[in-house]
Amino acid sequence: MKRSKFDVIIIGGGIIGLSIAWRLARVGLELLLVERKGIGEETSSVAAGMLAPYSELGFENEDMLELGERSLREYPRFLEELSHDSGISVPLHDYHTLMCGVDSHDIGTLKRRYDLHKNMSIESVWVSPGDVRSMEPLLSPRTLGALKPPTEAFVDPQQLMRSLHTAILKLGGEVRTNLSVTELIGTKYAVEGVAFESKDIARSECVVLATGAWTSKLYPACGIRSQKGQILTVELPKGLRLRSLVRTPRVYITPTNSSTLRLGATTEECGMLEHSTAGALYKILHYGREIIPSLDEASFHRMDVGYRPTTPSHRPILGPAHEANLILAGGHHRGGVLLAPTTALAVASYVSTGAWPHNLQSFNPTAHQQGRNL
Ligand SMILES: Cc1cc2nc3c(=O)[nH]c(=O)nc-3n(C[C@H](O)[C@H](O)[C@H](O)COP(=O)(O)OP(=O)(O)OC[C@H]3O[C@@H](n4cnc5c(N)ncnc54)[C@H](O)[C@@H]3O)c2cc1C
Repeated sequence: MKRSKFDVIIIGGGIIGLSIAWRLARVGLELLLVERKGIGEETSSVAAGMLAPYSELGFENEDMLELGERSLREYPRFLEELSHDSGISVPLHDYHTLMCGVDSHDIGTLKRRYDLHKNMSIESVWVSPGDVRSMEPLLSPRTLGALKPPTEAFVDPQQLMRSLHTAILKLGGEVRTNLSVTELIGTKYAVEGVAFESKDIARSECVVLATGAWTSKLYPACGIRSQKGQILTVELPKGLRLRSLVRTPRVYITPTNSSTLRLGATTEECGMLEHSTAGALYKILHYGREIIPSLDEASFHRMDVGYRPTTPSHRPILGPAHEANLILAGGHHRGGVLLAPTTALAVASYVSTGAWPHNLQSFNPTAHQQGRNL
């Protein structure tokens, strides 16, 4: 007979749910992770894998930068401990990001970003057209200059999720896939467990919602919506290799550790339309060729679709809900891979001590509800 009582139930087997489950398994809790499809089959598997707190920085508050930087710093330890538990090591690749411009409008946008970085004490440098082309020979001769933020990194999200899944199982965590949670059960003040499609229930003293863009289905008050993103994968011909991560205000081109490139991504407010579109492919390629003309010679691999979990403020919603034993871990928008280590540590610390980390208070559900984050 299947077990029906756990210390913690985590709903969602994407990068966030898996990272949290692994951290909780490490402290010896009896946990159940429930995923309605296969592990890591949704948005986390299509992510480009950039750990890019500087080049992805919008004009949000400083605490977003601080959270992203902390997560980037946390990554080496996260991966080392994970590899110890799972036996599967996941490489972390450092790289330079070149935020390039090809016309005066782009350069204006990048100079404003340069000023923002200076105001936030981020040590970015401005690179001249000649220098940027010697750093990255595949850049178009039209490149008029680039902003180069401090070193960022890249990780393969699918490899990372495989390692997390293995570690959870090795540490005794239970993982149930192809099983949908239909409802949270309990009272107005506390959750007592979850109900499944099969009508079975599992009980727990603590439930973590890591259901990405689907979170509003189980917890409408969180205000998380889906923002569709399409991303293209191509392979450069032998002998051509991109050394840096190249971006313009319209596209990013991520080199993986081979000649495979990922180009993204669209930003579409259309709910969860599943198919990839010809229009998205056209736009991504058009903007990509503008800065890396040799993309013409690349071979097409595939287009993927994902759904960013997005709050009105584009900030994650992290921490205990009104029901103190229900923890929200969602709304990571464009940064779920980057923010997985800090999110997991914060949730594990709350479950073990009952105290939510002080420096993450501004992301908790109360701050979102009070409109401080809107
Ligand atoms: C094109 C694209 C590129 C991106 N690139 C980057 C990047 O380079 N770097 C970065 O940091 N971020 C990136 N992101 C953002 C990142 O992918 C997300 O922030 C992250 O994947 C969110 O992780 P998650 O675990 O919350 O969601 P998901 O990966 O979507 O996982 C949620 C899981 O919950 C499951 N679930 C939902 N409802 C239920 C239920 N009722 N019962 C059981 N299971 C349920 C779903 O099936 C799903 O597997 C990108 C996003 C897109 C779309």
